[in-house]
Amino acid sequence: MSKGILTVVSGFSGAGKGTVMKRLLESKGNYALSISVTTREPRKGEADGREYFFRTKEEVEKMIREDQLLEYAKYVDHYYGTPRKYVEDKLAEGKDVILEIEIQGALQIKKKVPEAVLVFITPPSMEELKRRLTERGTESREVIDSRLARASEEAESIDKYDYILVNDKVDDCVETLHHLISSEHLRSQRNMDFICKIQDESRIFKKGE
Ligand code: 5GP
Repeated sequence: MSKGILTVVSGFSGAGKGTVMKRLLESKGNYALSISVTTREPRKGEADGREYFFRTKEEVEKMIREDQLLEYAKYVDHYYGTPRKYVEDKLAEGKDVILEIEIQGALQIKKKVPEAVLVFITPPSMEELKRRLTERGTESREVIDSRLARASEEAESIDKYDYILVNDKVDDCVETLHHLISSEHLRSQRNMDFICKIQDESRIFKKGE
Protein backbone atom coordinates (compact mmCIF):
# COMPACT_ATOMS: atom_id res chain seq x y z
CA MET A 1 0.00 0.00 0.00
CA SER A 2 1.35 3.44 -0.85
CA LYS A 3 2.09 5.63 2.11
CA GLY A 4 -0.04 8.70 2.68
CA ILE A 5 1.27 12.23 2.31
CA LEU A 6 1.85 14.44 5.32
CA THR A 7 0.63 17.98 4.62
CA VAL A 8 1.21 20.84 7.00
CA VAL A 9 -1.21 23.73 6.69
CA SER A 10 -0.41 26.99 8.43
CA GLY A 11 -1.83 30.45 8.16
CA PHE A 12 -2.46 33.54 10.23
CA SER A 13 -4.99 33.14 13.00
CA GLY A 14 -8.24 34.27 11.32
CA ALA A 15 -7.18 33.29 7.79
CA GLY A 16 -10.08 30.84 7.61
CA LYS A 17 -7.94 27.68 7.83
CA GLY A 18 -10.43 25.95 10.10
CA THR A 19 -13.24 26.23 7.53
CA VAL A 20 -10.93 25.17 4.69
CA MET A 21 -9.83 22.08 6.69
CA LYS A 22 -13.39 21.12 7.54
CA ARG A 23 -14.44 21.28 3.88
CA LEU A 24 -11.34 19.41 2.76
CA LEU A 25 -12.18 16.54 5.09
CA GLU A 26 -15.72 16.42 3.72
CA SER A 27 -14.32 16.26 0.17
CA LYS A 28 -13.63 13.11 -1.83
CA GLY A 29 -10.04 12.76 -0.64
CA ASN A 30 -8.61 10.15 1.67
CA TYR A 31 -7.77 12.56 4.47
CA ALA A 32 -7.20 12.32 8.22
CA LEU A 33 -6.88 15.46 10.32
CA SER A 34 -4.57 15.24 13.29
CA ILE A 35 -6.04 16.54 16.56
CA SER A 36 -3.55 18.49 18.63
CA VAL A 37 -3.11 18.82 22.35
CA THR A 38 -3.26 22.33 23.79
CA THR A 39 -3.15 24.04 27.16
CA ARG A 40 -5.44 26.88 26.06
CA GLU A 41 -9.03 27.06 27.30
CA PRO A 42 -11.73 25.60 25.04
CA ARG A 43 -13.69 28.25 23.11
CA LYS A 44 -17.47 28.22 23.16
CA GLY A 45 -18.65 25.26 21.08
CA GLU A 46 -15.33 23.39 21.19
CA ALA A 47 -15.25 19.87 22.61
CA ASP A 48 -12.39 17.85 24.09
CA GLY A 49 -11.19 15.29 21.55
CA ARG A 50 -12.88 17.04 18.62
CA GLU A 51 -11.14 20.40 18.02
CA TYR A 52 -8.31 19.67 20.47
CA PHE A 53 -7.34 17.49 23.38
CA PHE A 54 -7.47 20.12 26.13
CA ARG A 55 -4.75 19.30 28.66
CA THR A 56 -2.93 20.92 31.59
CA LYS A 57 0.57 22.33 31.27
CA GLU A 58 1.89 19.42 33.39
CA GLU A 59 0.23 16.84 31.16
CA VAL A 60 1.66 18.38 27.98
CA GLU A 61 5.13 18.70 29.52
CA LYS A 62 4.99 15.01 30.40
CA MET A 63 4.10 14.17 26.77
CA ILE A 64 7.06 16.25 25.61
CA ARG A 65 9.44 14.42 27.99
CA GLU A 66 8.14 11.06 26.81
CA ASP A 67 8.59 12.02 23.13
CA GLN A 68 4.90 11.51 22.43
CA LEU A 69 4.70 14.68 20.33
CA LEU A 70 5.92 14.86 16.74
CA GLU A 71 6.35 18.62 17.18
CA TYR A 72 5.21 21.26 19.64
CA ALA A 73 5.36 25.00 20.07
CA LYS A 74 4.35 27.79 22.41
CA TYR A 75 1.84 30.11 20.81
CA VAL A 76 0.56 33.20 22.66
CA ASP A 77 1.48 31.69 26.08
CA HIS A 78 0.10 28.21 25.47
CA TYR A 79 1.51 24.87 24.38
CA TYR A 80 0.23 23.26 21.19
CA GLY A 81 1.52 19.88 19.97
CA THR A 82 0.88 17.03 17.54
CA PRO A 83 0.49 13.53 19.05
CA ARG A 84 2.94 11.34 17.15
CA LYS A 85 1.15 7.98 17.17
CA TYR A 86 -2.02 9.03 15.31
CA VAL A 87 0.01 10.62 12.49
CA GLU A 88 2.31 7.62 12.07
CA ASP A 89 -0.58 5.12 12.14
CA LYS A 90 -2.70 7.00 9.59
CA LEU A 91 0.22 7.54 7.18
CA ALA A 92 0.98 3.83 7.36
CA GLU A 93 -2.69 3.12 6.53
CA GLY A 94 -2.25 5.22 3.37
CA LYS A 95 -4.23 8.25 4.57
CA ASP A 96 -3.20 11.77 3.63
CA VAL A 97 -2.66 13.33 7.03
CA ILE A 98 -3.21 17.05 7.56
CA LEU A 99 -1.61 19.00 10.39
CA GLU A 100 -3.09 22.43 10.97
CA ILE A 101 -0.27 23.98 12.96
CA GLU A 102 1.69 27.22 13.31
CA ILE A 103 5.03 28.11 11.82
CA GLN A 104 7.51 26.90 14.47
CA GLY A 105 5.88 23.47 14.43
CA ALA A 106 5.76 23.44 10.61
CA LEU A 107 9.50 24.05 10.41
CA GLN A 108 10.16 21.24 12.92
CA ILE A 109 8.13 18.90 10.70
CA LYS A 110 10.08 19.93 7.59
CA LYS A 111 13.29 18.91 9.37
CA LYS A 112 11.97 15.61 10.69
CA VAL A 113 9.89 14.63 7.65
CA PRO A 114 11.52 16.23 4.58
CA GLU A 115 8.93 14.75 2.21
CA ALA A 116 6.11 16.61 4.02
CA VAL A 117 4.33 19.31 2.00
CA LEU A 118 4.08 22.74 3.64
CA VAL A 119 1.20 24.99 2.60
CA PHE A 120 0.60 28.52 3.88
CA ILE A 121 -2.94 29.93 3.70
CA THR A 122 -3.34 33.69 3.74
CA PRO A 123 -6.28 36.06 3.37
CA PRO A 124 -6.05 38.43 0.39
CA SER A 125 -4.76 41.28 2.61
CA MET A 126 -3.81 42.08 6.21
CA GLU A 127 -6.74 44.51 6.43
CA GLU A 128 -9.06 41.59 5.63
CA LEU A 129 -7.34 39.50 8.34
CA LYS A 130 -8.01 42.18 10.97
CA ARG A 131 -11.64 42.39 9.87
CA ARG A 132 -12.13 38.60 10.06
CA LEU A 133 -10.50 38.34 13.49
CA THR A 134 -12.61 41.18 14.90
CA GLU A 135 -15.86 39.89 13.39
CA ARG A 136 -15.31 36.37 14.73
CA GLY A 137 -15.92 37.91 18.15
CA THR A 138 -14.45 34.97 20.05
CA GLU A 139 -11.44 36.81 21.47
CA SER A 140 -10.83 39.92 23.54
CA ARG A 141 -9.22 43.04 22.01
CA GLU A 142 -6.00 42.14 23.79
CA VAL A 143 -5.87 38.62 22.35
CA ILE A 144 -6.72 39.93 18.86
CA ASP A 145 -3.84 42.42 19.11
CA SER A 146 -1.38 39.71 20.17
CA ARG A 147 -2.57 37.45 17.32
CA LEU A 148 -2.06 40.28 14.81
CA ALA A 149 1.42 40.92 16.23
CA ARG A 150 2.13 37.22 15.87
CA ALA A 151 0.87 37.31 12.26
CA SER A 152 3.34 40.06 11.52
CA GLU A 153 6.19 37.84 12.83
CA GLU A 154 4.89 34.81 10.93
CA ALA A 155 4.73 36.75 7.64
CA GLU A 156 8.55 36.83 7.69
CA SER A 157 8.73 33.04 7.21
CA ILE A 158 6.09 32.42 4.53
CA ASP A 159 8.77 31.81 1.91
CA LYS A 160 9.93 28.70 3.84
CA TYR A 161 6.67 26.97 2.81
CA ASP A 162 6.39 24.99 -0.42
CA TYR A 163 3.10 26.59 -1.49
CA ILE A 164 1.05 29.69 -0.74
CA LEU A 165 -2.74 29.66 -1.06
CA VAL A 166 -4.92 32.77 -0.95
CA ASN A 167 -8.20 32.11 0.81
CA ASP A 168 -10.46 34.51 -1.01
CA LYS A 169 -13.29 32.11 -1.78
CA VAL A 170 -13.38 29.06 0.51
CA ASP A 171 -14.57 26.60 -2.15
CA ASP A 172 -11.78 27.58 -4.55
CA CYS A 173 -9.22 27.32 -1.79
CA VAL A 174 -10.39 23.82 -0.80
CA GLU A 175 -10.34 22.63 -4.40
CA THR A 176 -6.86 23.99 -5.02
CA LEU A 177 -5.56 22.35 -1.85
CA HIS A 178 -7.13 19.03 -2.84
CA HIS A 179 -5.55 19.22 -6.33
CA LEU A 180 -2.23 20.16 -4.86
CA ILE A 181 -2.13 17.11 -2.57
CA SER A 182 -3.38 14.85 -5.38
CA SER A 183 -0.56 16.09 -7.62
CA GLU A 184 2.00 15.43 -4.90
CA HIS A 185 1.09 11.73 -5.16
CA LEU A 186 2.41 11.78 -8.73
CA ARG A 187 5.92 12.93 -7.84
CA SER A 188 8.45 10.40 -9.14
CA GLN A 189 10.27 10.34 -5.80
CA ARG A 190 7.06 9.08 -4.14
CA ASN A 191 6.60 6.33 -6.75
CA MET A 192 9.98 4.67 -6.85
CA ASP A 193 8.60 1.13 -6.50
CA PHE A 194 6.38 1.56 -9.53
CA ILE A 195 9.16 3.23 -11.52
CA CYS A 196 11.52 0.32 -10.77
CA LYS A 197 8.86 -2.17 -11.89
CA ILE A 198 8.34 -0.34 -15.22
CA GLN A 199 12.11 -0.11 -15.69
CA ASP A 200 12.50 -3.84 -15.01
CA GLU A 201 9.71 -4.74 -17.41
CA SER A 202 11.09 -2.47 -20.11
CA ARG A 203 14.50 -4.16 -20.09
CA ILE A 204 13.21 -7.09 -22.17
CA PHE A 205 12.74 -4.67 -25.05
CA LYS A 206 16.39 -3.65 -25.02
CA LYS A 207 17.97 -3.84 -28.48
CA GLY A 208 19.79 -7.09 -29.09
CA GLU A 209 18.05 -9.11 -26.34
P1 5GP B 1 -6.08 28.41 18.04
O1 5GP B 1 -5.85 28.76 19.46
O2 5GP B 1 -6.60 29.58 17.23
O3 5GP B 1 -6.94 27.18 17.87
O4 5GP B 1 -4.66 28.02 17.40
C1 5GP B 1 -3.60 28.90 17.50
C2 5GP B 1 -2.49 28.46 16.56
O5 5GP B 1 -1.93 27.21 17.01
C3 5GP B 1 -2.96 28.24 15.13
O6 5GP B 1 -2.02 28.85 14.26
C4 5GP B 1 -2.95 26.74 14.98
O7 5GP B 1 -2.69 26.36 13.64
C5 5GP B 1 -1.77 26.38 15.87
N1 5GP B 1 -1.77 24.98 16.30
C6 5GP B 1 -2.82 24.16 16.54
N2 5GP B 1 -2.40 22.94 16.89
C7 5GP B 1 -1.05 22.96 16.85
C8 5GP B 1 -0.01 21.98 17.09
O8 5GP B 1 -0.26 20.82 17.40
N3 5GP B 1 1.26 22.40 16.96
C9 5GP B 1 1.60 23.66 16.61
N4 5GP B 1 2.90 23.95 16.47
N5 5GP B 1 0.67 24.60 16.37
C10 5GP B 1 -0.64 24.27 16.49
